[in-house]
Amino acid sequence: MDRAFRRLETKLIHAGEPDPRILGAVAMPIFQSAMYETAGGDYHDLQYIRLNNTPNSVVLHAKLAALEGAEAALVTASGMAAITTTLLTFLSAGDHLLAQDTLYGGTHDFLTRDFASFGISFDFVDGNDPKSWEARLRPETKAIYVETITNPLMQVADLEGIAHFARSKEILSIIDNTFATPVNFRPIENGFDLSLHSCTKYMNGHSDIVAGAVIGRRDLVGRIKHKLDHLGGSLDPHAAFLLHRGMKTLAVRVRHQNESALEIARFLEGRPEIARVNYPGLESNYAHARARKLFEGFGGMLSYELKGGADAAKKFLAATTLPLKAPSLGSVETLLTLPALTSHAGMSREDRQRLGITDGLVRMSVGLEATEELIEDLGQALTT
Ligand code: PLP
Repeated sequence: MDRAFRRLETKLIHAGEPDPRILGAVAMPIFQSAMYETAGGDYHDLQYIRLNNTPNSVVLHAKLAALEGAEAALVTASGMAAITTTLLTFLSAGDHLLAQDTLYGGTHDFLTRDFASFGISFDFVDGNDPKSWEARLRPETKAIYVETITNPLMQVADLEGIAHFARSKEILSIIDNTFATPVNFRPIENGFDLSLHSCTKYMNGHSDIVAGAVIGRRDLVGRIKHKLDHLGGSLDPHAAFLLHRGMKTLAVRVRHQNESALEIARFLEGRPEIARVNYPGLESNYAHARARKLFEGFGGMLSYELKGGADAAKKFLAATTLPLKAPSLGSVETLLTLPALTSHAGMSREDRQRLGITDGLVRMSVGLEATEELIEDLGQALTT
Protein backbone atom coordinates (compact mmCIF):
# COMPACT_ATOMS: atom_id res chain seq x y z
CA MET A 1 0.00 0.00 0.00
CA ASP A 2 2.78 2.42 0.97
CA ARG A 3 5.20 1.62 -1.84
CA ALA A 4 6.40 4.77 -3.52
CA PHE A 5 5.89 4.69 -7.27
CA ARG A 6 7.87 7.31 -9.12
CA ARG A 7 6.03 8.01 -12.36
CA LEU A 8 2.43 8.99 -12.92
CA GLU A 9 1.78 6.11 -15.35
CA THR A 10 2.88 3.59 -12.70
CA LYS A 11 0.92 5.33 -9.95
CA LEU A 12 -2.24 5.15 -12.09
CA ILE A 13 -1.93 1.37 -12.23
CA HIS A 14 -0.46 0.50 -8.83
CA ALA A 15 -0.80 3.31 -6.25
CA GLY A 16 -3.33 2.60 -3.51
CA GLU A 17 -4.12 -0.93 -4.71
CA PRO A 18 -4.66 -3.52 -1.97
CA ASP A 19 -1.46 -5.41 -1.18
CA PRO A 20 -1.91 -8.34 -1.16
CA ARG A 21 -4.74 -8.23 -3.71
CA ILE A 22 -8.12 -9.22 -2.29
CA LEU A 23 -8.42 -13.01 -2.81
CA GLY A 24 -5.83 -12.49 -5.55
CA ALA A 25 -8.22 -10.43 -7.67
CA VAL A 26 -6.22 -8.37 -10.17
CA ALA A 27 -9.08 -5.90 -10.62
CA MET A 28 -10.40 -4.19 -7.49
CA PRO A 29 -13.74 -5.90 -6.72
CA ILE A 30 -16.90 -3.86 -6.12
CA PHE A 31 -17.84 -3.81 -2.44
CA GLN A 32 -21.54 -3.09 -2.81
CA SER A 33 -22.28 -3.11 0.90
CA ALA A 34 -23.75 -0.09 2.68
CA MET A 35 -22.41 -1.02 6.10
CA TYR A 36 -19.83 -3.32 7.67
CA GLU A 37 -19.67 -5.32 10.87
CA THR A 38 -17.69 -3.50 13.54
CA ALA A 39 -15.11 -5.36 15.60
CA GLY A 40 -15.46 -3.47 18.87
CA GLY A 41 -18.66 -1.55 18.21
CA ASP A 42 -16.87 1.82 18.51
CA TYR A 43 -18.53 4.62 16.48
CA HIS A 44 -15.16 5.64 15.03
CA ASP A 45 -14.66 2.17 13.53
CA LEU A 46 -17.91 2.44 11.63
CA GLN A 47 -17.63 1.77 7.89
CA TYR A 48 -20.56 3.07 5.88
CA ILE A 49 -20.84 4.27 2.26
CA ARG A 50 -21.90 7.80 3.24
CA LEU A 51 -18.72 8.14 5.29
CA ASN A 52 -16.64 7.44 2.18
CA ASN A 53 -14.54 4.90 4.04
CA THR A 54 -15.52 1.64 2.34
CA PRO A 55 -12.97 -0.26 0.21
CA ASN A 56 -13.75 1.21 -3.23
CA SER A 57 -13.44 4.78 -1.89
CA VAL A 58 -10.32 4.08 0.16
CA VAL A 59 -8.43 2.72 -2.86
CA LEU A 60 -9.34 5.84 -4.85
CA HIS A 61 -8.25 8.17 -2.05
CA ALA A 62 -4.76 6.69 -1.99
CA LYS A 63 -4.44 6.69 -5.79
CA LEU A 64 -5.71 10.27 -6.22
CA ALA A 65 -3.40 11.61 -3.51
CA ALA A 66 -0.42 9.83 -5.09
CA LEU A 67 -1.23 11.21 -8.55
CA GLU A 68 -1.03 14.83 -7.43
CA GLY A 69 1.76 14.33 -4.89
CA ALA A 70 -0.58 15.19 -1.99
CA GLU A 71 -1.10 13.83 1.51
CA ALA A 72 -4.78 12.96 1.14
CA ALA A 73 -7.80 12.82 -1.14
CA LEU A 74 -11.54 12.33 -0.89
CA VAL A 75 -14.01 11.18 -3.55
CA THR A 76 -17.42 12.79 -3.82
CA ALA A 77 -20.71 12.11 -5.58
CA SER A 78 -20.00 14.70 -8.32
CA GLY A 79 -17.68 17.54 -9.19
CA MET A 80 -20.25 19.96 -7.77
CA ALA A 81 -20.33 18.00 -4.49
CA ALA A 82 -16.53 18.44 -4.28
CA ILE A 83 -16.79 22.18 -5.01
CA THR A 84 -19.76 23.08 -2.80
CA THR A 85 -18.64 20.93 0.14
CA THR A 86 -15.13 22.43 0.01
CA LEU A 87 -16.42 26.00 -0.13
CA LEU A 88 -18.90 25.40 2.69
CA THR A 89 -16.16 23.83 4.82
CA PHE A 90 -13.96 26.89 4.77
CA LEU A 91 -16.49 29.72 4.41
CA SER A 92 -19.17 30.59 6.96
CA ALA A 93 -21.47 33.54 7.52
CA GLY A 94 -19.46 36.77 7.35
CA ASP A 95 -16.61 35.28 5.30
CA HIS A 96 -15.54 36.42 1.83
CA LEU A 97 -14.16 34.60 -1.23
CA LEU A 98 -12.10 35.85 -4.18
CA ALA A 99 -13.11 33.93 -7.32
CA GLN A 100 -11.91 33.97 -10.90
CA ASP A 101 -14.44 35.71 -13.17
CA THR A 102 -14.70 32.90 -15.76
CA LEU A 103 -15.74 29.90 -13.69
CA TYR A 104 -17.65 26.78 -14.75
CA GLY A 105 -21.38 27.67 -14.90
CA GLY A 106 -22.41 25.50 -11.92
CA THR A 107 -19.74 27.05 -9.69
CA HIS A 108 -20.58 30.55 -10.95
CA ASP A 109 -24.26 29.96 -10.11
CA PHE A 110 -23.46 28.61 -6.65
CA LEU A 111 -21.59 31.83 -5.85
CA THR A 112 -24.03 34.23 -7.47
CA ARG A 113 -27.31 32.54 -6.45
CA ASP A 114 -26.63 30.53 -3.28
CA PHE A 115 -23.82 32.23 -1.36
CA ALA A 116 -26.03 35.04 -0.04
CA SER A 117 -28.33 32.59 1.74
CA PHE A 118 -25.31 31.36 3.75
CA GLY A 119 -24.23 34.95 4.53
CA ILE A 120 -21.03 34.48 2.48
CA SER A 121 -19.85 37.21 0.10
CA PHE A 122 -17.51 37.05 -2.88
CA ASP A 123 -15.81 39.19 -5.50
CA PHE A 124 -14.84 38.14 -8.98
CA VAL A 125 -11.25 38.89 -9.96
CA ASP A 126 -9.26 38.69 -13.19
CA GLY A 127 -6.89 35.72 -12.94
CA ASN A 128 -4.39 37.57 -15.10
CA ASP A 129 -4.40 40.79 -13.07
CA PRO A 130 -2.72 40.59 -9.62
CA LYS A 131 -3.85 44.16 -8.87
CA SER A 132 -7.48 43.01 -8.94
CA TRP A 133 -6.75 40.31 -6.29
CA GLU A 134 -5.08 42.81 -3.99
CA ALA A 135 -7.81 45.42 -4.55
CA ARG A 136 -10.63 43.03 -3.60
CA LEU A 137 -8.92 41.40 -0.63
CA ARG A 138 -10.73 42.03 2.68
CA PRO A 139 -9.88 41.18 6.30
CA GLU A 140 -12.65 38.54 6.13
CA THR A 141 -11.34 36.95 2.88
CA LYS A 142 -10.69 33.26 3.54
CA ALA A 143 -9.80 31.82 0.13
CA ILE A 144 -9.11 32.42 -3.55
CA TYR A 145 -10.74 30.07 -6.09
CA VAL A 146 -9.61 29.55 -9.71
CA GLU A 147 -9.63 27.01 -12.56
CA THR A 148 -6.49 25.68 -14.27
CA ILE A 149 -7.87 26.23 -17.78
CA THR A 150 -11.10 28.19 -18.09
CA ASN A 151 -14.21 27.26 -19.98
CA PRO A 152 -14.93 28.00 -22.82
CA LEU A 153 -12.05 30.35 -23.75
CA MET A 154 -9.24 28.13 -22.42
CA GLN A 155 -7.54 30.94 -20.55
CA VAL A 156 -4.65 30.18 -18.22
CA ALA A 157 -4.45 32.55 -15.26
CA ASP A 158 -1.25 33.54 -13.48
CA LEU A 159 -1.42 30.36 -11.42
CA GLU A 160 2.00 30.74 -9.81
CA GLY A 161 1.13 34.30 -8.82
CA ILE A 162 -2.21 33.23 -7.33
CA ALA A 163 -0.67 30.45 -5.19
CA HIS A 164 2.02 32.86 -4.00
CA PHE A 165 -0.55 35.62 -3.28
CA ALA A 166 -2.66 33.20 -1.18
CA ARG A 167 0.34 32.07 0.83
CA SER A 168 1.53 35.62 1.49
CA LYS A 169 -1.97 36.71 2.60
CA GLU A 170 -2.54 33.51 4.62
CA ILE A 171 -5.70 32.57 2.74
CA LEU A 172 -6.48 29.20 1.12
CA SER A 173 -5.83 28.66 -2.58
CA ILE A 174 -8.33 26.32 -4.23
CA ILE A 175 -8.15 25.26 -7.88
CA ASP A 176 -10.49 23.26 -10.10
CA ASN A 177 -8.02 21.08 -12.03
CA THR A 178 -10.64 19.21 -14.10
CA PHE A 179 -9.51 20.47 -17.53
CA ALA A 180 -5.78 19.85 -16.99
CA THR A 181 -5.88 16.54 -15.04
CA PRO A 182 -2.82 15.49 -12.99
CA VAL A 183 -1.22 14.37 -16.25
CA ASN A 184 -0.80 17.98 -17.39
CA PHE A 185 -0.73 19.93 -14.11
CA ARG A 186 -0.34 19.06 -10.44
CA PRO A 187 -1.60 21.97 -8.31
CA ILE A 188 -0.26 20.85 -4.93
CA GLU A 189 3.27 20.60 -6.35
CA ASN A 190 2.74 24.15 -7.66
CA GLY A 191 1.80 25.69 -4.31
CA PHE A 192 -2.01 25.33 -4.20
CA ASP A 193 -3.67 24.14 -1.00
CA LEU A 194 -6.53 22.19 -2.56
CA SER A 195 -7.14 20.69 -5.99
CA LEU A 196 -10.70 19.79 -7.02
CA HIS A 197 -11.93 17.62 -9.87
CA SER A 198 -15.05 16.74 -11.69
CA CYS A 199 -14.02 13.10 -12.17
CA THR A 200 -17.02 12.84 -14.48
CA LYS A 201 -14.67 14.19 -17.16
CA TYR A 202 -11.10 13.07 -17.94
CA MET A 203 -10.48 11.12 -14.73
CA ASN A 204 -13.19 8.59 -15.60
CA GLY A 205 -13.15 9.37 -19.30
CA HIS A 206 -15.97 7.15 -20.51
CA SER A 207 -19.16 9.26 -20.21
CA ASP A 208 -20.81 6.80 -17.83
CA ILE A 209 -20.72 8.24 -14.29
CA VAL A 210 -20.64 11.49 -12.34
CA ALA A 211 -18.02 11.76 -9.61
CA GLY A 212 -15.73 14.30 -7.99
CA ALA A 213 -12.60 14.55 -5.88
CA VAL A 214 -10.78 16.83 -3.45
CA ILE A 215 -7.01 16.50 -3.10
CA GLY A 216 -4.65 18.24 -0.66
CA ARG A 217 -3.22 18.41 2.83
CA ARG A 218 -4.50 15.80 5.28
CA ASP A 219 -5.89 18.32 7.78
CA LEU A 220 -7.79 20.23 5.08
CA VAL A 221 -9.18 17.08 3.42
CA GLY A 222 -10.17 15.81 6.89
CA ARG A 223 -12.24 18.94 7.51
CA ILE A 224 -13.93 18.57 4.12
CA LYS A 225 -14.69 14.90 4.86
CA HIS A 226 -16.37 15.91 8.11
CA LYS A 227 -18.63 18.32 6.19
CA LEU A 228 -19.26 15.76 3.43
CA ASP A 229 -20.30 13.17 6.02
CA HIS A 230 -23.07 15.60 6.99
CA LEU A 231 -24.01 16.90 3.55
CA GLY A 232 -24.05 13.35 2.22
CA GLY A 233 -22.41 13.75 -1.20
CA SER A 234 -20.62 10.38 -1.08
CA LEU A 235 -19.70 8.23 -4.07
CA ASP A 236 -21.47 4.90 -4.60
CA PRO A 237 -19.13 1.84 -4.78
CA HIS A 238 -20.21 0.96 -8.30
CA ALA A 239 -19.41 4.47 -9.56
CA ALA A 240 -16.14 4.29 -7.59
CA PHE A 241 -15.30 1.02 -9.34
CA LEU A 242 -15.93 2.58 -12.78
CA LEU A 243 -13.88 5.67 -11.91
CA HIS A 244 -11.02 3.47 -10.70
CA ARG A 245 -11.11 1.45 -13.91
CA GLY A 246 -11.28 4.58 -16.07
CA MET A 247 -8.37 6.24 -14.27
CA LYS A 248 -5.94 3.45 -15.16
CA THR A 249 -5.81 4.70 -18.75
CA LEU A 250 -5.78 8.42 -17.88
CA ALA A 251 -2.20 9.06 -18.98
CA VAL A 252 -2.49 7.39 -22.39
CA ARG A 253 -5.85 9.03 -23.04
CA VAL A 254 -4.79 12.54 -22.03
CA ARG A 255 -1.47 12.37 -23.91
CA HIS A 256 -3.29 11.34 -27.09
CA GLN A 257 -5.84 14.11 -26.53
CA ASN A 258 -3.04 16.67 -25.96
CA GLU A 259 -1.46 15.78 -29.30
CA SER A 260 -4.70 15.51 -31.21
CA ALA A 261 -6.08 18.83 -29.91
CA LEU A 262 -2.86 20.63 -30.81
CA GLU A 263 -2.97 19.25 -34.35
CA ILE A 264 -6.64 20.20 -34.72
CA ALA A 265 -6.03 23.70 -33.29
CA ARG A 266 -3.21 24.26 -35.81
CA PHE A 267 -5.41 23.01 -38.66
CA LEU A 268 -8.29 25.31 -37.68
CA GLU A 269 -6.01 28.31 -37.19
CA GLY A 270 -4.99 28.00 -40.83
CA ARG A 271 -8.57 27.89 -42.17
CA PRO A 272 -10.13 31.00 -43.76
CA GLU A 273 -13.59 30.21 -42.25
CA ILE A 274 -12.23 30.52 -38.70
CA ALA A 275 -11.89 33.91 -36.97
CA ARG A 276 -10.08 32.77 -33.81
CA VAL A 277 -8.90 29.58 -32.12
CA ASN A 278 -8.55 29.45 -28.32
CA TYR A 279 -5.96 26.88 -27.31
CA PRO A 280 -2.99 27.51 -24.98
CA GLY A 281 -0.82 25.17 -27.05
CA LEU A 282 -0.83 27.58 -30.02
CA GLU A 283 2.16 29.91 -30.22
CA SER A 284 -0.29 32.74 -31.03
CA ASN A 285 -2.15 32.26 -27.71
CA TYR A 286 -1.64 35.02 -25.09
CA ALA A 287 -0.88 32.47 -22.36
CA HIS A 288 1.31 30.13 -24.43
CA ALA A 289 4.60 30.88 -22.62
CA ARG A 290 2.92 30.50 -19.21
CA ALA A 291 1.18 27.25 -20.22
CA ARG A 292 4.43 25.86 -21.64
CA LYS A 293 6.18 26.58 -18.35
CA LEU A 294 3.44 25.17 -16.08
CA PHE A 295 1.90 22.31 -18.03
CA GLU A 296 3.16 19.02 -19.39
CA GLY A 297 0.52 19.15 -22.13
CA PHE A 298 -2.04 21.73 -23.22
CA GLY A 299 -5.12 19.53 -22.85
CA GLY A 300 -7.84 18.16 -25.08
CA MET A 301 -10.18 21.16 -24.95
CA LEU A 302 -10.30 23.97 -27.50
CA SER A 303 -12.78 26.52 -28.75
CA TYR A 304 -13.04 28.45 -31.99
CA GLU A 305 -15.10 31.18 -33.51
CA LEU A 306 -16.55 30.92 -37.00
CA LYS A 307 -16.46 34.04 -39.15
CA GLY A 308 -20.14 33.67 -40.03
CA GLY A 309 -21.30 33.93 -36.38
CA ALA A 310 -24.09 31.86 -34.80
CA ASP A 311 -25.68 30.74 -38.09
CA ALA A 312 -22.38 29.50 -39.48
CA ALA A 313 -21.61 27.74 -36.19
CA LYS A 314 -24.97 25.93 -36.17
CA LYS A 315 -24.53 24.92 -39.82
CA PHE A 316 -21.02 23.69 -39.09
CA LEU A 317 -22.16 21.58 -36.14
CA ALA A 318 -24.94 20.02 -38.19
CA ALA A 319 -22.49 19.18 -41.02
CA THR A 320 -19.97 17.34 -38.82
CA THR A 321 -20.42 13.57 -38.79
CA LEU A 322 -17.93 12.22 -36.23
CA PRO A 323 -18.28 14.41 -33.12
CA LEU A 324 -21.35 14.01 -30.93
CA LYS A 325 -23.23 17.20 -30.17
CA ALA A 326 -23.33 17.15 -26.40
CA PRO A 327 -22.12 19.25 -23.49
CA SER A 328 -19.62 17.85 -20.94
CA LEU A 329 -16.09 16.90 -21.86
CA GLY A 330 -13.05 14.74 -21.29
CA SER A 331 -14.41 11.53 -22.73
CA VAL A 332 -13.30 9.06 -25.40
CA GLU A 333 -15.85 10.54 -27.84
CA THR A 334 -15.23 13.92 -29.45
CA LEU A 335 -17.95 16.33 -28.34
CA LEU A 336 -19.03 19.66 -29.84
CA THR A 337 -21.18 22.29 -28.19
CA LEU A 338 -22.14 25.95 -28.63
CA PRO A 339 -21.50 27.51 -25.17
CA ALA A 340 -23.86 30.46 -25.85
CA LEU A 341 -26.73 27.96 -26.18
CA THR A 342 -25.63 25.40 -23.56
CA SER A 343 -23.11 25.89 -20.72
CA HIS A 344 -23.35 29.70 -20.75
CA ALA A 345 -27.00 30.13 -21.78
CA GLY A 346 -27.83 31.26 -18.23
CA MET A 347 -25.53 34.29 -18.60
CA SER A 348 -26.85 37.49 -20.21
CA ARG A 349 -25.76 38.14 -23.81
CA GLU A 350 -23.96 41.32 -22.69
CA ASP A 351 -21.99 39.41 -20.05
CA ARG A 352 -21.08 36.75 -22.60
CA GLN A 353 -19.94 39.36 -25.11
CA ARG A 354 -17.92 41.17 -22.43
CA LEU A 355 -16.09 37.94 -21.60
CA GLY A 356 -15.56 37.10 -25.29
CA ILE A 357 -18.08 34.23 -25.50
CA THR A 358 -19.62 35.05 -28.87
CA ASP A 359 -22.71 33.37 -30.35
CA GLY A 360 -20.49 31.77 -33.01
CA LEU A 361 -18.09 30.16 -30.53
CA VAL A 362 -17.78 26.37 -30.82
CA ARG A 363 -16.31 24.32 -27.93
CA MET A 364 -14.66 21.02 -28.73
CA SER A 365 -13.65 18.21 -26.40
CA VAL A 366 -11.27 16.07 -28.43
CA GLY A 367 -11.79 12.33 -27.96
CA LEU A 368 -9.75 9.32 -29.00
CA GLU A 369 -10.79 9.02 -32.64
CA ALA A 370 -8.03 9.19 -35.26
CA THR A 371 -6.91 12.81 -35.50
CA GLU A 372 -6.70 12.55 -39.28
CA GLU A 373 -10.37 11.54 -39.55
CA LEU A 374 -11.48 14.29 -37.18
CA ILE A 375 -9.60 16.88 -39.25
CA GLU A 376 -11.12 15.53 -42.47
CA ASP A 377 -14.57 15.78 -40.95
CA LEU A 378 -14.08 19.32 -39.62
CA GLY A 379 -12.69 20.37 -43.02
CA GLN A 380 -15.69 19.07 -44.94
CA ALA A 381 -18.10 20.62 -42.42
CA LEU A 382 -16.46 24.06 -42.80
CA THR A 383 -17.10 24.03 -46.56
CA THR A 384 -20.61 22.52 -46.49
N1 PLP B 1 -15.75 21.81 -12.90
C1 PLP B 1 -15.69 21.92 -14.23
C2 PLP B 1 -14.52 22.62 -14.85
C3 PLP B 1 -16.70 21.38 -15.03
O1 PLP B 1 -16.63 21.50 -16.37
C4 PLP B 1 -17.80 20.72 -14.40
C5 PLP B 1 -18.91 20.14 -15.19
O2 PLP B 1 -19.06 20.36 -16.36
C6 PLP B 1 -17.83 20.66 -13.02
C7 PLP B 1 -16.79 21.20 -12.29
C8 PLP B 1 -18.98 20.01 -12.30
O3 PLP B 1 -18.82 18.64 -12.31
P1 PLP B 1 -20.01 17.56 -12.19
O4 PLP B 1 -20.88 17.71 -13.38
O5 PLP B 1 -19.28 16.26 -12.08
O6 PLP B 1 -20.74 17.89 -10.92
